[in-house]
Amino acid sequence: MEKYLSQLNEAQLEPTTQIDGPMIVIAGAGSGKTRVLTYRIAYMMSKGIDAFNILALTFTNKAAREMKERIASIVGNSEAKNLWMGTFHSVFARILRSEAEKLGYPSNFTIYDTQDSDRLIASIIKEMNLDKDIYKYKQIRSRISSYKNSLITVRAYFQNPELIEADATARRPRMGDIYKTYVDRCFKAGAMDFDDLLLKTNELLTRFPEVLAKYQNRFKYILVDEYQDTNHSQYLIVRALSDKFQNICVVGDDAQSIYAFRGANINNILNFQKDYDDVKVFRLEQNYRSTKNIVNAANSVIDKNQTKLDKIVWTANEEGGKIKVHRSLTDADEGRYVASTIFENKMNEQLQNSDFAILYRTNAQSRSIEDALRKRDIPYRIYGGLSFYQRKEIKDVLSYLRLVINPKDEEALKRVINFPPRGIGQTTVDKLIVAANGYNRSIFEVMKNIDKTDIKINSGTRTKLQNFVTLIESYQVMNQTTDVFELAEHVTRSSGLIREFNKDGTPEGVTRMENIEELLNGMKDFVEGQKELADATGSLAEFLEDVALATDLDNDKGDTNRVALMTIHLAKGLEFPYVYIVGLEEDLFPSAMSMNTRSELEEERRLFYVALTRAEKQAYLTYALSRYRWGKLIDSEPSRFIEEIDDQYLDILTPPEERRFNPMLDADIFGDVEPNKIRFKPAKQPSFKKGVSKKDPVKFQITTPKNLKPVSKPNSSDEGRDTNLFDSELVVGNMVKHLRFGTGEVIKIEGNGADMKAEIKFDTGGVKKLLLRFAKLEVV
Ligand code: ATP
Ligand code: MG
Repeated sequence: MEKYLSQLNEAQLEPTTQIDGPMIVIAGAGSGKTRVLTYRIAYMMSKGIDAFNILALTFTNKAAREMKERIASIVGNSEAKNLWMGTFHSVFARILRSEAEKLGYPSNFTIYDTQDSDRLIASIIKEMNLDKDIYKYKQIRSRISSYKNSLITVRAYFQNPELIEADATARRPRMGDIYKTYVDRCFKAGAMDFDDLLLKTNELLTRFPEVLAKYQNRFKYILVDEYQDTNHSQYLIVRALSDKFQNICVVGDDAQSIYAFRGANINNILNFQKDYDDVKVFRLEQNYRSTKNIVNAANSVIDKNQTKLDKIVWTANEEGGKIKVHRSLTDADEGRYVASTIFENKMNEQLQNSDFAILYRTNAQSRSIEDALRKRDIPYRIYGGLSFYQRKEIKDVLSYLRLVINPKDEEALKRVINFPPRGIGQTTVDKLIVAANGYNRSIFEVMKNIDKTDIKINSGTRTKLQNFVTLIESYQVMNQTTDVFELAEHVTRSSGLIREFNKDGTPEGVTRMENIEELLNGMKDFVEGQKELADATGSLAEFLEDVALATDLDNDKGDTNRVALMTIHLAKGLEFPYVYIVGLEEDLFPSAMSMNTRSELEEERRLFYVALTRAEKQAYLTYALSRYRWGKLIDSEPSRFIEEIDDQYLDILTPPEERRFNPMLDADIFGDVEPNKIRFKPAKQPSFKKGVSKKDPVKFQITTPKNLKPVSKPNSSDEGRDTNLFDSELVVGNMVKHLRFGTGEVIKIEGNGADMKAEIKFDTGGVKKLLLRFAKLEVV
């Protein structure tokens, strides 16, 4: 352990080795908060504290997994396995399973994801004959979510005239009724949504003192990462569990609180010292992640926020390159710029794809970036879009499996009762829903006992319903004896799903089949993996729980050497050598919806701070002068956040006009531009004061492809890249010299013109493939 402790600086060492009592580490980005938590757990275990008594809560499952792996490498795997570590949702889902019956839920309760919640709410709005333009299901869902996270139950809602009035004023007087129906329906379906996992935990801990005592005694030591983004519900859980021993250690950075829109409460971190007695406060100031330029630039921006704790962040790292700011004409140009500089950097610096991240404010921005990356053949991975498990075909398979575990699951049932089509129409389903509500039973129970009900359904349809019941029951029987993989394989065939997706032979159909195959592979993995664990059963229920709580960051299988694309929200806590923050435009970032109050704007600024502080070596900020949004071309101005960075840390790059037609960098541009599709707008003067617009007003000198002429001289940013080798003949067997890799022999040449690449076996040992137009080579 001593060896590991020497990997901490003095300020980090203190909180790491201080085990007892309440404490908080408040420190800026990259200062080692997560490292302190990780090493602290290892340290506690090395001092004899039982892993079973430690609970660590992280913001993503991925973070928990990485932390656990690190701890395992210090204290050994068999001990680390026993740690309770994960997100609030995954840890408390596990606890709720074993206590569910106390709350009237089956222990095999289903977890509804947001898609399930949305569908159920939409269906309730329809059943209640409400105007769906006023009662928008997504808005209703987020409203219900915020009630739950503030612990406002249905009953509390109806006792609170202010809430009722607020919804009435928002032209949604039936809000309370929807909330009640939604909660009843989830309960009847034996389902909890994400917010329930926290709400019900709170209920469990307040209503059952013996349960509270049990978990207080189990979790003698509690640690929370990213504490600044906990919501009220999470706060209360931590508070209750730590109340007895008060061994609570939280780490966070108020400047990185970015989830207020989802109920996170920054006061949790600001008030921590008031919540416990004798709180020890630790501060870390040295950043280990980023260059001086990045750290200083980030400091200069966050300084503009009025609400903040004063913090110092400095780094002993190298100065690094200045932050590059790039202006494009359109979002498509922006994408091309990002892709071409990634390509260049990769070649020049011999980097991996996974060294790059592209961060944006909204998911919709990924499209233009993706197009450009694909053209350059740069592999990428989008995080946080529709997760694998939410794709239609995957949800179809999973819905059958969910019914096996919990046939009351209404959303799963509605999804597959007539898919693949088996002649059970929507009218029949509507009748079943009405009957289920009337009898206060689940739809499945009504179907099972259809002959005892007074539903008006003809005998042909009755038979079809009974056949469906029999099908699900046969799966239930099979589940007693087979593993997840075998069951799922059987289900996909016997239900007709495979036939259905195979039928059309369209590319979509093929993709769906591939996805199903991937799901089955994942199950096989799961089954194999579970065999190694003594206490796991490899059960379907466990698999479904993992899936329900998997975020997109978690299933990082397959080829991981890809450029990462994600929203800034998702990037919290992560780090990458090269970071591109794209779409830095007013109304986009800061978002148009978050500029009305100072506190909203300050949250946007914190978001920008988070984005910038993800970068280790080099940050790029890009913006476009016009962009397609909601199907329209919208003019945009550079984001105020660029302006807020102290000038001295910025490198304002060549305007795009010159680059755009540089055949060296954008060899594919000619193929891209359709003559009559080129749009040009009058030059607009952006409100950008940093000298770009004033010194180099936007000019559109080229209007038709006839005028498209290759630029004869490489522009300034490419100076020196051009070598005589590009034109000269390089043959296999040549000995060459590279600035960084030394001398080596050319062993292979491929491609031609601008794409010519050479494989070189360097004397130092490695073989590298270099793009000749960038490689600084010399024949020796
Ligand atoms: P964030 O606020 O973004 O979550 P953080 O404060 O949690 O950041 P870490 O992720 O723990 O910071 O650390 C940032 C980087 O610095 C990591 O790569 C980590 O391994 C490294 N690091 C932290 N402390 C040290 C140290 N004492 N010596 C060397 N590297 C360190
Ligand atoms: Mg961290």
